[in-house]
This record gives sequence, C-alpha cells and structure tokens, in this order.
Amino acid sequence: MNSTIALGQPTVGDEELQAIAKVFESGWLSGAGPTCQEFESRFAQITGVSNVLATSNCGASLFLGLKVLGVKPGDEVIVGDYTFPATGHSVVWTGATPVFVDIRPDIWSIDPAQVEAAITPRTVGILAVDVFGQPADYDELRKIADKHGLWLMEDGACSAGATYKGRPAGSLADIATFSFHGRKGITAGEGGALTTDNAELTEHARKLHTYGIAPTVTREGSTDLPQPSFDEAGYNYRLSDVAAAMMLAQLDRLPTLLNNRRAVAAYYHERLKSIDRVSAPVALDDREHPWQSYVVTLDPDVDRGQLATYLKTHGIQCNFGTYASHLQPVYTFDRSLPVSADLFKRHLAIPMHANLTEIETERVMDVLAVALK
Ligand SMILES: *Cc1c(COP(=O)(O)O)cnc(C)c1O
Repeated sequence: MNSTIALGQPTVGDEELQAIAKVFESGWLSGAGPTCQEFESRFAQITGVSNVLATSNCGASLFLGLKVLGVKPGDEVIVGDYTFPATGHSVVWTGATPVFVDIRPDIWSIDPAQVEAAITPRTVGILAVDVFGQPADYDELRKIADKHGLWLMEDGACSAGATYKGRPAGSLADIATFSFHGRKGITAGEGGALTTDNAELTEHARKLHTYGIAPTVTREGSTDLPQPSFDEAGYNYRLSDVAAAMMLAQLDRLPTLLNNRRAVAAYYHERLKSIDRVSAPVALDDREHPWQSYVVTLDPDVDRGQLATYLKTHGIQCNFGTYASHLQPVYTFDRSLPVSADLFKRHLAIPMHANLTEIETERVMDVLAVALK
C-alpha cells in the first residue's frame, strides 16, 4: 500500500534544531530580540527593502500595516477578492470596510481594469493579493493608486522568493506582508513579517507590535534606568526569537525550496497538457512564481467532490483553491464577482511542497489522468 501524498509539507530538520539550540543558550527566547533583529536584516536583503518588522503572523502584519497607513472606521479599502479571508478581516479589524474587486481569470489576482469602478470618496487604498505567491499587477495598480491619491499594499503571505519584473515580492508596494505559517513556502510554524522602504511607518508599526513602547532590545546596554512611557495602546504581535531562529534556517533553505517547487510545477505543467477536462495554472513570464500551492482549474462538467474523493481514496490529498471573499457571510457584500465565484467552485489544489519525489509527482498525475478519463 502506497502512503498518502501530502498536499503541503514544511521542510525542517537539523538546521532549524541547531538554530533553536543557539537561542536556548543565549537565554533570549521572547520576541523582538537579537535573533529577530538578525532575521529582519536578512529578510530585508531578500525582499529588497530597507525595513522589516518580524511579527506573529501575516494577519497581524496586515492589521499593523493598515493602522500605520492611518486606516480608520468609515474608510473603504479595495481588496482582491480571491484570498484567504485574513486579508478582508484585517480591514474589518480597523473598523474600515473591505470593498472586494473581481480577479483576473488567468492569474487570479485583482483585475486592475476593474479597480477604478470601485473607487469612492471614502476609498483610502488598494490591498492586492499575490494569489498562491504569484505577484499581482503592481505597475498598473501603482498608476491607479497615484492617480487617485491612494496607498498600495501587497498581501504577499505566500510570496517569499517571488519576483515581479525582476523586483522581489515585498518591495512592490508601499507596504507588504508575509506569512510563515506551516502551509507557506518558508515557515516557523506561525510567524509573519511586514516589509517597506518607509522607516517612519516601520517605527510606528514596531511600537504598536509591542504594546506601544520601543522594544526592550533597544534599551540593552544602557547604563542608567530608562523608563519608557506608553502614549498608544499597542498590541502584542511579536515573533518569538525561537521562531526567528527557525526562520534564519529557512532563509538558508529558500533557494533550494524554490527550485524543488519549480521542478514539481514544471513536471505537472507538462503532464497536464495531455489530460482532458483540467487546465494548468498560468505563470506569467515577467514574474517568478514561488508555487506556494499548485491549483488546477477543472472544466465545468467535472464533479469536483467526486474527483476529490477518488484522489483521496487513492492516497492523494487535495483541496479547493482559496476563498471567494465576497461570498463569506461575515462580509455581507452585495455585488456579484463572477470570476472569483466561479473559480471558488472549480479550483482544485493538488500536492505541492519541496519534499515531493519524482515517483510521487508521477503518481499524482497518473491518478489524476485516470480519474478524469
Ligand atoms: C495564509 C494567508 C494569510 C494569513 O497568514 P497568517 O500568517 O496565518 O496570519 C493572509 N493572506 C493570504 C493571502 C494567505 O495565504
């Protein structure tokens, strides 16, 4: 009996354990410490920005980003519809309203051609999502944002290692956010980051992420007894230094992880050409796709539930793609967004992670081919 092929899987081992052991020896386990600082400077190099803030998760990064951009109750934020609803939720947390916009049918990120129609006098910014890690259309979005005096944010939860026209994800908007949840390309189990070239916004976000004062590490080495005061009710969105140590090891692995995922995607792409009733995801030439997930589109006549059952009984995990946000009851959104709604029903995620072997990827395609015959 073949074992089950996982949909996603982290790549972790001795390197992460050794990095954590060093943190144990240092005694600084809590967040926003020296290991976080080291992670932040290394992640800044990878994302091509001057400022990084390590956080507890991507949702926290999104929320902090919106807060420091000044988003407040009554504002509207334009959001790419097809995403894990952390994106829309983060807008709701600020008291503002997410205004969802439909997506491109090929790469599933916000359709720039539909953004202007959603702008009202209350609109303050555009929050684009790099769906499964492939960057959205930042040149077009920037033009629209500049024309209307809006800020632009990148939900790059899945985008570590991606590029857009040669520029790294993280540097494509005013602020970008990342997730290091176990299902993402690099992981500390849980974790996140905020990246930006704006030092002032970072400083404010840094203060808000540790209850409203400067992190303890900035007071290290002072000889007197500095006593910071609180002028804002901040939060605790710190990444622990234990998790930051894991992230340092994950950054060392990143090039290999990306290569492995790319090889799986290339193999799937080739095989899918000769399988009917399913189409491969589109990866555009002007951007590097990090393949956080591999999601195929089924023809409308395919019974997705039946197919999923077949795959699972043959030892292959699968899932739907991600969410059509506007259909989630929490948002009470009254416009219809047909592309996102349709793909929400027809997408199927198949195994994609950096540990897949050739034998496993062959088996995934062999079983899928038989199932769709
Ligand atoms: C995973 C994900 C998030 C949430 O990340 P957390 O680290 O779990 O908060 C947000 N946006 C997108 C697009 C995601 O895929």
